[in-house]
Amino acid sequence: MIEINDKSQCTGCAACANVCPSNCISMFQDDEGFYYPVVDSEKCIHCELCIKTCPVINRRTPESETRKVYICQNVDLKIRKDSTSGGVFSALSKYVLDRNGVVFGAEFDRNSIVRHGMCDNTAGLKRFRGSKYVQSFIGSSYKLVKDELNKDRWVLFTGTPCQIEGLHSYLGKEYKKLILMDIVCYSISSPGVWRQFLDYVGKNIPLDKVSCIKFRDKSKYGYEYTLMTFRDKEGKTIYSSGPESNPMLRSFVSNTSTRPSCYACKFKTIDRVSDYTAWDCYNVYKYNKNLDDNLGTSHLMVHSSKGLEILKTLKREMSLYQVNAEEAVASEPAMTQCAVPSDMRKPFFKMYRSGNNVFTRFFQDTKRVKVERLLRSVLSRIGLYKYIKRLMKG
Ligand SMILES: Cc1cc2nc3c(=O)[nH]c(=O)nc-3n(C[C@H](O)[C@H](O)[C@H](O)COP(=O)(O)OP(=O)(O)OC[C@H]3O[C@@H](n4cnc5c(N)ncnc54)[C@H](O)[C@@H]3O)c2cc1C
Ligand code: SF4
Ligand code: SF4
Ligand code: SF4
Repeated sequence: MIEINDKSQCTGCAACANVCPSNCISMFQDDEGFYYPVVDSEKCIHCELCIKTCPVINRRTPESETRKVYICQNVDLKIRKDSTSGGVFSALSKYVLDRNGVVFGAEFDRNSIVRHGMCDNTAGLKRFRGSKYVQSFIGSSYKLVKDELNKDRWVLFTGTPCQIEGLHSYLGKEYKKLILMDIVCYSISSPGVWRQFLDYVGKNIPLDKVSCIKFRDKSKYGYEYTLMTFRDKEGKTIYSSGPESNPMLRSFVSNTSTRPSCYACKFKTIDRVSDYTAWDCYNVYKYNKNLDDNLGTSHLMVHSSKGLEILKTLKREMSLYQVNAEEAVASEPAMTQCAVPSDMRKPFFKMYRSGNNVFTRFFQDTKRVKVERLLRSVLSRIGLYKYIKRLMKG
């Protein structure tokens, strides 16, 4: 049976828990707040399916049929503004929903826990739109995917590369009606730390009134400078803060609240088992100045001939331009390079383990942070922020 001796070798993908015929594997949060499999050894029948299915233990680097890269913008402006980058997820979902299929993605539940869910209608896609930089709880999603495929329905499953590998390994065979979309995944934060963040901000805002959370809200300053925003049912903003001051985002981008497997990720490769890999396109101005509208653009790498065939039918949903694949990959190091642990990680999680809220000590609103926030906000208001950001990136 599966045993976790080295936490850097478990992504928490839950393939083992989904495949276990005795249902004796549960995913529990450890003392850093991340999900790991725990086996009820009394129920275990020693079939070893969990070990045979684990995509980390059985890692084989896949070979993509194609490596074509496109830059994409969803033609529906409302959808594009609501999406993290160019709205490719929604365009691919439309393909599946038009064929009476189902879509799986990461959403917030009523307690603001990030988990995978399923939907079969356009209105439901809103729940999955928006990157959540917290590890999503898979639950029994892979079993549900298999059920839907066995009913001969189209299925789009979206997630981090390790989750896509987990599902692929769990299914153990190819399905004509399954579409897999992963993302370029920088890393993922601890769900336990996310809970502490909610408790921290909840001291000053009414969390029970929050009905929509966005990690990358474009509505105020556009795609170039996104904010974390909490809104109520009426759409009124209850909380909003940018990446230089938001403690949760700072713990994420500084590689502090990161899962150990993200420092040793085996899935940061160009070739993948998915049909598509989506990621941001901040440098759209380098490809095509006319597309540089600050509303969001996605890069999309197509790995399979099925993916290419489907994309051909989506020209009414998305503006698509093929770009040089090597240049596109080179523009985003997170596609192939792992995060490096920050020096703060140890003391940060020591405090987490003590039961005290990490944000009362770490990532505080210092004078320097306040100055950076003011500067960024002023530069954004007068339209100079994006040019300075581009100059700094080179
Ligand atoms: C954890 C994470 C890290 C990322 N890191 C990078 C990066 O380093 N560089 C880069 O260029 N792009 C990164 N992205 C991808 C980028 O943010 C966009 O998701 C991507 O460009 C797709 O854009 P979209 O407009 O189609 O997405 P949207 O329409 O906003 O859809 C979001 C999609 O992401 C999925 N998703 C959201 N949160 C999670 C989660 N916690 N776990 C699993 N799936 C999730 C949803 O199911 C949905 O399919 C990351 C995304 C996530 C979730
Ligand atoms: S060995 Fe078989 S029964 Fe035991 S935990 Fe693994 S999958 Fe479950
Ligand atoms: S990587 Fe996935 S399948 Fe392997 S032990 Fe961890 S949760 Fe289970
Ligand atoms: S960096 Fe790797 S291990 Fe971490 S969430 Fe992303 S795909 Fe999974």
